[in-house]
Order: sequence, then C-alpha cells, then structure tokens
Amino acid sequence: MNVKFINARILGEVDLKQLYIKGNIIHKISNIIQEPADRVIDLKGKLLMSGFVNAHCHNPMTLLRGIKDDVNLQTWLFDYMFPNEAKLSEEDLYYGELLGIAESIRSGITCIEENYFSCQGNIEAIKKSKIRARFGITTERESDDFVKDFDECLISFKDSNLIVPSIFIHSIYTTSEQEIMEQTAYAKAHNLPVSIHLSETLEEVGECMTKHNQTPVEYLESLGFFDRPATAYHCVHMDKDDVKILADYNVNVVTCPSSNLKLGSGIAPVHTFLENGINVALGTDGPASNNSLDMFKEMYLCSCLQKAHFYDSSVVSASQTLKIATENGAKMMGFKSGIIKEGYLADLIVVDINKLHYYPCDNMESNLVYAGRADDVVLTMVNGEILYENGKFNLGFDLDYVIKKCFEIRKRLEK
Ligand SMILES: [Zn+2]
Repeated sequence: MNVKFINARILGEVDLKQLYIKGNIIHKISNIIQEPADRVIDLKGKLLMSGFVNAHCHNPMTLLRGIKDDVNLQTWLFDYMFPNEAKLSEEDLYYGELLGIAESIRSGITCIEENYFSCQGNIEAIKKSKIRARFGITTERESDDFVKDFDECLISFKDSNLIVPSIFIHSIYTTSEQEIMEQTAYAKAHNLPVSIHLSETLEEVGECMTKHNQTPVEYLESLGFFDRPATAYHCVHMDKDDVKILADYNVNVVTCPSSNLKLGSGIAPVHTFLENGINVALGTDGPASNNSLDMFKEMYLCSCLQKAHFYDSSVVSASQTLKIATENGAKMMGFKSGIIKEGYLADLIVVDINKLHYYPCDNMESNLVYAGRADDVVLTMVNGEILYENGKFNLGFDLDYVIKKCFEIRKRLEK
C-alpha cells in the first residue's frame, strides 16, 4: 500500500510538506508530490516524526506491574520478580508481550529491543503484533544445554523481516564466567551481537571488585565479551577507564532513567558517554520497574537528570535527546530507520501539536522533549503499515481478549 501524507509538519522543517510512502519505504519528501496513493492523509499541520526506538524493555513484565515497588534492585529482582516469573508459562509471556506492545504502539514506539527469559511465546507475540524488534535469546530458566535451546530459538526468526536476533546475557551476577564466555563464543559462531545489564548498581560493582578485583566493564573485557558488537544497558556506575573501554570497543549504551530512579540505582553519566563518542540509546526497561512504556517521560528524564547531575543546563539538549530516542537506537540494532529521510524504512508517528501545551509551536524539539506527552501520538506506522490511528488499533491480535487474559494471569499470580 502507498500512503501520502499531506500538510505535514515534519520535525526539523518549518514549511508544511508532503511525504510519500511506497510499500515500507519513505520514497519522497517534497512540497508537492504528484504520484497517486492508495490513501491520502491530510495531517492539517500535525507533526510527523520518526517513531521512538525503545532500546531496552521486557514487555511481559506488564503482568508484574506494581506487584512490588519501593525496594532496591536486588530485593525487587530476587525476592519478587524471579519467583513470580517462575510461575509464568509460555502462553502467559505471549499475552504479556502483546499487552506491552499495544501500550508501546499507542505511545509512538515503532521498534523495541526486547529481552526476556524465554523464546517462543515472546517471538510469536512480536511477530503477530507487526512491531519492529531485536530480540535477545537468553537462558534465564534452568537449562543444561543452551546450545540446543539457542539453535532452536534461532529458527523462529527465519520467516520475518521485522525481527532480528541477538544474544542476551542477563548480567554478570546471574551468569557464571564460563557461561558468559561460552555464550559469547556462540554469538561469534553465529555472527550475532551481544547485550547485557551492566554496572546498574553499586552492589554489582562492589561485588565484582571483591570477587575479581575488576570493575564489571573490565571483567567483561577480560572475558572477550566486547569482541562482539555489544550493547550495555544502564551503565550507571562507571569510572573513567570503564568509559574508555566502552568507547574503544564501540559498545552501545542504553540508558533507562525511570527504572534507575525508581529502583534507587543512581544516574547514568549520559553526558560523559556522549562526550566520548559513545552511541547512547534510550529504553524504558520493564514495566515492573518503570512502570510505564512512555518514551516522552524517558526523554524528559534523560535530558533533565543530566543537567542536574552535572550542574550544567547546557548538557544533553532536546535535539540530542530526540536523536537518542530514535536514530541511535535504530543504529544500535542495525535497522535503516529512526530518521525521516528518503530511502529509510517507514517507521513513523504523527503527534497532535494542536494542544495548549505545545503552543505557540515554535521550537518543536524543545516542545516534544520538555512538554510532550505520549497521549499526543495519534498515528503509529511500522514498516509502512498503520498500526494505530486516532484511538483505533490495527494489530494482528484481539486486544480486548489479550487484556482479559492478562487480568486472569495476574489474578493467578496473586493467589
Ligand atoms: Zn532490564
């Protein structure tokens, strides 16, 4: 299907433009486009921009939202998340993933980096939903043969162009030295990138120093983890040498400000990462530690926390933050998206700026980051297909049924 948007205010442009989508590609951006389209959408001055890339999430944790708040990461994870997750079946994960994806699409997220402890349920849900994703294959549940599990999981990716695989190692405190090395070797053998939660809390860093006399970053470097294209989530507690290692190996960093704040973990030095040329992307983390999937909230925190942390209001500008929330995440996952540009994938959103909190609509980058709200999104398109428009979803599943199932699962968990 070919779609033409007319009277569009495109982020970064002053005049109203037309944008033509041919199949799944942004084919043309111009003042007037003559090509006929299957559908013409008059945006009447609404803002057209790249969809958000949520570079770190665990969507099935929608099922655990609010199950335990106001405790630190270690208590939250080991005493509440892991025991509850042990009760979740593949089918539960499937419904939890779909619920998270619906919330994401409603909020203008067009691409996700999903990691959860199972394969089939999540991947099936992602494929059904039609969102773009990179999915991290992992071994959270007891398994004596990860190679067999990983091999089997990789088959699930074959028939989709929207989802690509990576290898996800949960963290250095839940994975042994040998497992990290073996799984990194597996990633190398299959030419896959790797990812990990890294230096999220002071406890993690302290424990690693005691055990190995190395920071978590130095420890992973010594195990050859960064020899693969790598992504590190959180990176809250970093010294100068850690930052240099991440920069030297071109490691992508994903910052998750809400989750770090809510779990009392700290503030990641995003400004320092950017100064060192590190590709920084933005993620919500799971909805049990955030507790929403709202990239507007993350953008506000991502920028403003740095200003407070460094006592400098000039750092991590609105323009840098928007890049972090879109382009940088797509770059990290290797998708040709995240930018409104001819030849790029049509992963777009429309934001209704005809609202009091955007007026007088002068500096749109500033307005989006410092005043914007997820509810302002009125259209979400992934790969040239409209998945949400003016209150109506066009997903590959029955959302009402998914919501009903999720309520039942949660009831069962609380028994
Ligand atoms: Zn996480």
